[in-house]
Amino acid sequence: MQLAPASPASPIAPASTAPALPPLQQRTPEQLKEGMVVAVKGAGSADLAVARLIQDGAQYMARAADTTLGLATVEVNYAAADRQGALGLATFQGNKGWFALSQRSTKGLLEGIDRLRTTKWSDWTEAQRQAFVQSNETILHEASHVTLNGYTNADVDAWHGANRDFEEGLAEIANMTHIRPFMQEEFGVDIGDATDRISQSVSAYTRFTERIERMIGMGTDGSAAAIAAAGSRIGDKVPADQRLPEIATAIGLALGGPTAPPALVAEIAKTLPGFVAEQNGTRTKLMEIQAALVDHAAGRPVDVPALLAHLHELDAAHPALTPPRTNGFEPLD
Ligand SMILES: [Zn+2]
Repeated sequence: MQLAPASPASPIAPASTAPALPPLQQRTPEQLKEGMVVAVKGAGSADLAVARLIQDGAQYMARAADTTLGLATVEVNYAAADRQGALGLATFQGNKGWFALSQRSTKGLLEGIDRLRTTKWSDWTEAQRQAFVQSNETILHEASHVTLNGYTNADVDAWHGANRDFEEGLAEIANMTHIRPFMQEEFGVDIGDATDRISQSVSAYTRFTERIERMIGMGTDGSAAAIAAAGSRIGDKVPADQRLPEIATAIGLALGGPTAPPALVAEIAKTLPGFVAEQNGTRTKLMEIQAALVDHAAGRPVDVPALLAHLHELDAAHPALTPPRTNGFEPLD
């Protein structure tokens, strides 16, 4: 399949470069097979459409991130995922992306693709629609995990060592941003706004996405579109080990201006993991740093060393952070 490069002007709207193929449910077996590069294990010969959908989802995420496909292998009907209550699992095997879909997600995809051939989307029950959307969200979420700027040893090592709460939150923001245009492009159906989607209201990563969105929002004009664009950019284009400094820099610039004290920006980056993990004391600390940045931008003098000493006293008053979780073989929910 030929993929046009994503337009740099619209990083969250890759549908504008949609490949000229009919909706998945109407493609011929030849169209489904052409250009398949992802190895799909656990699928029967009748499951070609599912294999194609998975590759299309992963390619969509790579195109949105303006990078190449990192996914090499997908296992469907993966019972081990269901046994741990997960919809999917993702990791790297060496430098090759791997993900697995639970039996629940695989079944949702198979039934949904079949139903699209016989029944208009608007005639589906809400339960049928939600199950199909959730299964597609599983693909985009897991694909997001294995979509990196590059796939060298250093890229993959950075991913393994990155803070996992942020990885999960950003994978879910990318999924929420892209699922509607993806399903429009892939199936020709409109699933509606995020606020209409029951699957998002019960997302396992609400805690991470909300706090990350709030922090990203501080580095933008705060509009929903700007937050989605910034989240997508940070999730898709910033290497995993540079995301926290990137978010902190954006906050520093938005609140403190171009001369924001670097020591305060660094302190924000250091505090973000605890904030997302809901560690006591972190919200007060961030509030004080952000207020100091606003004072700095307004020309009111800020005693940076004294503020840092005070902030480190706050740190000492609260229990130490548990080591941040790092990536590996991980469940979606
Ligand atoms: Zn995940």
